Amino acid sequence: MSIIDTVEDHERFRAELASIAKDGRRKWVYARQQKGRYYTARTLLSIVLVAFFVLSPFVKVGGHQFMLLNLLDRSFVLFGIPFWPQDMWLLVLIFLLCVVTVALFTATLGRIWCGWMCPQTIFMEMMFRRIEWLIDGGPKEQARRRGGPWTFDRLWRAVVKQSVFAVLSFGIANVFLAYLISSDTLLRYISDGPTAHAGVLIPLTLFSGVFYAVFARFREQACVIVCPYGRYMSALVDENTLAVTYDPVRGEQRGKGKDREGKGDCVDCYQCVTVCPTGIDIRNGIQLECVNCTACIDACDAVMDKVKKPRGLIRYASLNAIRSGASHWFTPRIAAYGSVWLVLVAVVSVLFMLRSDIEITLLRQEGSVWVTTTEGVGNYYRVEIINKTSNPRNIQFDVISPKGATVKPLVDAKSVKPWSEIKGRLLVIVPPESVVNGVGRVTIQVREGENVVKTETTSFLTSQSGSQQ
Ligand code: SF4
Ligand code: SF4
Repeated sequence: MSIIDTVEDHERFRAELASIAKDGRRKWVYARQQKGRYYTARTLLSIVLVAFFVLSPFVKVGGHQFMLLNLLDRSFVLFGIPFWPQDMWLLVLIFLLCVVTVALFTATLGRIWCGWMCPQTIFMEMMFRRIEWLIDGGPKEQARRRGGPWTFDRLWRAVVKQSVFAVLSFGIANVFLAYLISSDTLLRYISDGPTAHAGVLIPLTLFSGVFYAVFARFREQACVIVCPYGRYMSALVDENTLAVTYDPVRGEQRGKGKDREGKGDCVDCYQCVTVCPTGIDIRNGIQLECVNCTACIDACDAVMDKVKKPRGLIRYASLNAIRSGASHWFTPRIAAYGSVWLVLVAVVSVLFMLRSDIEITLLRQEGSVWVTTTEGVGNYYRVEIINKTSNPRNIQFDVISPKGATVKPLVDAKSVKPWSEIKGRLLVIVPPESVVNGVGRVTIQVREGENVVKTETTSFLTSQSGSQQ
């Protein structure tokens, strides 16, 4: 059974999902391709977004990949700016800001994300469905073949289509992996060959399988059944939210035929239904399944052009705007969301600007030996320098107490590369008389030119926890 056969059932839309039959079986959605101004705009945006998705892990800025989300190593790079484990609090705030941004955008612009920017919609509608149309033809041919016998024609098309889907899914999975483990690691794994890193084949196969299953089979069900955003979106929209909406004031009473006496502008042609990738009839009002893809706007505009009526019977509008003709999108709720959003933007911006541009950790090396030299006694200290700027940094070390102490850096801190981290050791040597009963204190100063970056006072041991070399 297909959605094409059952469009007459639209009055049951509140009780049932359009793509699920009463007995729970799937009703396959054979969406028709509808060209139009929104489709063109979405195609152009999709090209930009897919290019961004594919290139981001491979483009380097200051030696770092443009986008990296390495959860295992807690290494994140957003738009070329690295975030270190020490910046995790800032990442949490940025995540919170994203959540509030989505809430604000959803309350004002509805599911604009779903229709225009969501990877699921972009890959499904702009890539996989287009390939399907190219190989299998339009909805009628697809439905005919699917319901018919396994002829050679059906077989070769199915093999070609599923093969292309599988290769595309594998490609997407590789790019996805490059975000998680870094493109350098991925390219190294590829050049080493699959047998050299069999462990990575497991996530790669898993991701490829999931992408293939979603785009080849699960499709709109991901938006309708699985996506949490689709669920919580329902709590965010109200009658003032902008959405792809049918105008019943203008459209009803709908009806076919040239005699329009007593009828509205809707000619009941079902073109808006046949293009819908989730198989719904937008004329039933705002529905959970609608991803605001705008295909029905283009379809209806084409019909309105033909019947010489103004475009926009289906358009971006709020329910209140349809009813009253006036749009009141700036409601107290939007003002509240907007205020929280502005505060968060300000907090994140200020904290980002105040984020120290160099992070230096100095610790006595635990369990390390103490050494005796001709100049005195020495302890080792661990040093870690994180350069969070795009300029190289020249870091020097001095011991300002006790008197007569010296420091030998065992780390090349004279040129710490931009956006990088170095680790090493310092050997601090103090006069023996400055250590009483095996315990002393040293004050190490970290400088960059004349600028003192950090002053750290820490312990110096020549007994108990320290052992002589
Ligand atoms: S109702 Fe229109 S906007 Fe909503 S999913 Fe269907 S075609 Fe897209
Ligand atoms: S495409 Fe427009 S005219 Fe045709 S059924 Fe849909 S709303 Fe009515």
